[in-house]
Amino acid sequence: MSKTHPHPGPSPISVVTESVLQNLPIGLVIYDADLSVRAVNKLASQLLNPADRLDQMLAAGTPERNVEDWRGRLLACMQSTSRVTVEDLVYRHSGLGEQRLYRFSFSPLVSTHTAGEFGVIVIEDVTAQTTMEKRLAVSERMAAVGKLAARVAHELNNPLDGILRYINLAHRAIETPEGKPRVEHYLEQARAGLLRMVQIISELLEFSRSTHAAAEDAAISKLLEDAIKAMDQKAMAMRVTIVSVYDDHLPAVRSGNLFQVFCNLIKNAIDAMADGGTLTITAEVEEPDVVMRFEDTGIGLPAGAEERIFEPFFTTKEAGQGTGLGLAICRDIVEKYGGRIAACNRDEGGACFTVTLPLSSCSMMTQTGSDSPNP
Ligand code: ADP
Repeated sequence: MSKTHPHPGPSPISVVTESVLQNLPIGLVIYDADLSVRAVNKLASQLLNPADRLDQMLAAGTPERNVEDWRGRLLACMQSTSRVTVEDLVYRHSGLGEQRLYRFSFSPLVSTHTAGEFGVIVIEDVTAQTTMEKRLAVSERMAAVGKLAARVAHELNNPLDGILRYINLAHRAIETPEGKPRVEHYLEQARAGLLRMVQIISELLEFSRSTHAAAEDAAISKLLEDAIKAMDQKAMAMRVTIVSVYDDHLPAVRSGNLFQVFCNLIKNAIDAMADGGTLTITAEVEEPDVVMRFEDTGIGLPAGAEERIFEPFFTTKEAGQGTGLGLAICRDIVEKYGGRIAACNRDEGGACFTVTLPLSSCSMMTQTGSDSPNP
């Protein structure tokens, strides 16, 4: 009996692999060094406009780029050793007649037989996901506004209650000769309540103003120095020494309301050093960020409140001394720059506030080259 030879068709594994690749919920395109498409799965052919070469397919949906642009990028990716991702690129699909948002990941296709000959693109349609994220961000913001409105109503209601009570007392006292001397005291109390309301409202107005950052550039060191100058008198009165150390090559930044953030952090630090002390302000580039630290030798943060201090109306200061809005405003401003603000207690005692701004939000103008206007 003669031996039968296996059928020379494709192996079951390659059939399964092909079927899996074809039906993946992400688009896949494999291309060669001429940028000809060597393989494309079902979803990729639906997502991209048809063309002979991959650079043309991509350029056909992204008119602001051109074929040359894509050619350079695709060839560079084939030669590189790592994956490159292009997030949320708007792609105009001629067949679908609408703009979609795609995330592209480019990688070289490396195996024992191939290196630098093929590249692969993974395409994800993130239109729905991105829209949902945007909606969520809006509803989170609305929830935060609602929460803030409730807190504001509560905070204004307390002094208002007191004012009403003292005015009623004054009203009654004025009617009897023995009550008259107390009228002045009651009016004084009502006035204190009104002043507290004025303070809350003016800080809230600052909060709402912080939504618009000005577009001028200013050197970070200049903003810090201006803030130190603005707090000079208060520091001297409280016997606080302010030491500042800045990197030589700090970038500039849209001045916006950062000046206000720095003033607030300095003011809080001085408030925390009732018996005098030292505030050390440093600013340095720590790729990919520029980091500013405000380290004081004061009483330190209230225990376990490293996060709560950033909530609106959280304050440990006496009535009339603080509203608890300062740090909430600071966080709001810093986040508008795409940055972060955090606080912790120092091992040596005192608090440290860190403001981190991504270098990408800073202008390329360096500190020495800047002659920016005052914030
Ligand atoms: P306010 O200064 O009106 O109280 P903030 O939001 O600026 O409002 O600060 C909230 C609270 O954070 C302060 O009441 C204080 O308890 C705490 N805090 C802020 N800065 C410091 C600091 N440098 N050291 C210690 N505690 C601080």
